[in-house]
Amino acid sequence: MDLSRRDFVKLCGASAAGVGLSQLALPPIVQALEKAAAGNPPVVWIMGQGCTGCSVSILNTVHPTIAEVLLKIISMKFHETIMAASGELALEAQDKAAEEFAGKFYLVVEGSIPTGADGMYAQIGTMKGKTRTMLSEVLHLGTKAAAVLAVGTDAAYGGIPAAKPNPTGAKSVMAVFKEHGIKTPVINVPGCPPNPDWMVGTIAHVLLYGVPQLDGEGRPLLFYGTLIHDNCPYRGYFEYGVFAKQFNDDGCRYKLGCKGPETYADCWKRKWNNGVNWCVQNAICIGCVQPDFWDKYTPIYQSLG
Ligand code: SF4
Repeated sequence: MDLSRRDFVKLCGASAAGVGLSQLALPPIVQALEKAAAGNPPVVWIMGQGCTGCSVSILNTVHPTIAEVLLKIISMKFHETIMAASGELALEAQDKAAEEFAGKFYLVVEGSIPTGADGMYAQIGTMKGKTRTMLSEVLHLGTKAAAVLAVGTDAAYGGIPAAKPNPTGAKSVMAVFKEHGIKTPVINVPGCPPNPDWMVGTIAHVLLYGVPQLDGEGRPLLFYGTLIHDNCPYRGYFEYGVFAKQFNDDGCRYKLGCKGPETYADCWKRKWNNGVNWCVQNAICIGCVQPDFWDKYTPIYQSLG
């Protein structure tokens, strides 16, 4: 591999600076990934309680394209939304991957895991008359995987399904692992949904250099290491007490409910929709990458202070 981790971090960090366009397309990263991924690391992607928004978000990755990710970088063995197989055939492919690549495959978990009613609130399928639940799959595959990526706030922290009164007993991957003594490393990539760069960038880091440096909430510092409020273009207004009263006013959006003062992510420079815009530009930050989202940050348009 010719690309040092230092250069990789620099490229990811610089990717959004100013231009707002991801530079993950830069040939050195794609080439290094292709080289490192010789044999294409197997990935099993399972989905529990969620809206499929995380999958839709990663399908929007532009640099590299999702076709490059799927065809050149990883080998997707199971993904309900994009795979052609269904029923027992699909589950057989998943079982085969888990056996054949035990200790080597990467498990991506999207959505939270309902633990109530023996996990029956989220069923993955039926195999030889036996129901498989999200809970049973996470426990089974989680012990066999090399590492787990908990993508989206639901998988990372419980998210909206775990909001009070949490009737299904929804939990995060880390919480389920802790309860069952599973030691497989978990990397949280929260967001509702996460930016495609955060997911592809984290996968790239894991493949090229191993588990990235994480913050206290299990998130890669590479993407979640800065406070939105400290980097917001409206921060000057905040300091001078100039607050917008409605969305087309000039001024800081704090009094409209902005959660930027408590939210760690690089949306302010990476932006969304291939660098076109971001939440604070058009509305407010809703704190969707934070562990306490949803309960702590609602009502959405209520000010923090
Ligand atoms: Fe920007 Fe929101 Fe902080 Fe105001 S409160 S400066 S809009 S992040």
